[in-house]
Amino acid sequence: THALSIQGLTKTYANGFVALKGIDLEVKQGDFFALLGPNGAGKSTTIGIISTLVNKSSGKVSVFGNDLDTHPLQLKRCIGVVPQEFNFNQFELAFNILVTQAGYYGIKRAEAKVRAEQLLKQLELWDKRDTQARLLSGGMKRRLMIARALVHGPKLLILDEPTAGVDIELRRSMWDYLIKLNREGTTIILTTHYLEEAEQLCRNIAIIDHGQIIENTSMRTLLTKL
Ligand code: ADP
Ligand code: ADP
Repeated sequence: THALSIQGLTKTYANGFVALKGIDLEVKQGDFFALLGPNGAGKSTTIGIISTLVNKSSGKVSVFGNDLDTHPLQLKRCIGVVPQEFNFNQFELAFNILVTQAGYYGIKRAEAKVRAEQLLKQLELWDKRDTQARLLSGGMKRRLMIARALVHGPKLLILDEPTAGVDIELRRSMWDYLIKLNREGTTIILTTHYLEEAEQLCRNIAIIDHGQIIENTSMRTLLTKL
């Protein structure tokens, strides 16, 4: 089974705007995959549908064999999503944000605390564990979003424009962390409008424009064409 399989996915928003015009996409287990495209292409819409936040209009989506229509809860358990905007409870402490999130997945409190500690340490946020989200820097908030997305141990991590507005130093350290996570077995999909990011990180790539996939190939093959 693929980590992600999408067939004939369409999305028409309530105002009639057709954001996805029939997308097919397959991402293999263990892959590091880029969905590249300009602003407005349909990247966030696609991720919103996979993460069950946006209703699709038609088509099939499955994650590790769990169909979105028939097994949405199993599907959700397999994925961690890092959205573009910060959407924390701004007054909650970093440590508690992770423990709360783990609770949504039915993870027991003692285990949740162990995982929160591990992730905060890995993402160099341990000394901020008792800091409210609103008091963290932009880079710290972003790392906290990654930690939160990983707290239930997802097999697929999806990041929407992970380094938008992030300075070069933090971008490098985030890239290093994601590379390590992928080596340890987590399948990763990221959206970006920034070819260099895809080039540095990803083995395979799909290019989306105006709600359609216009290219789907290995990073190596794409680079020889440019
Ligand atoms: P749906 O119920 O089809 O998923 P939403 O509830 O997400 O649609 O959106 C409701 C309305 O909000 C849309 O019909 C649209 O008018 C407006 N809207 C929200 N975000 C955007 C956007 N990025 N661009 C244009 N319109 C938007
Ligand atoms: P990307 O992530 O590639 O920038 P999006 O998936 O956010 O693209 O948006 C694709 C298109 O759908 C854009 O033209 C956007 O304005 C539109 N859109 C997004 N959300 C809504 C909405 N809720 N209602 C109507 N149009 C929307």
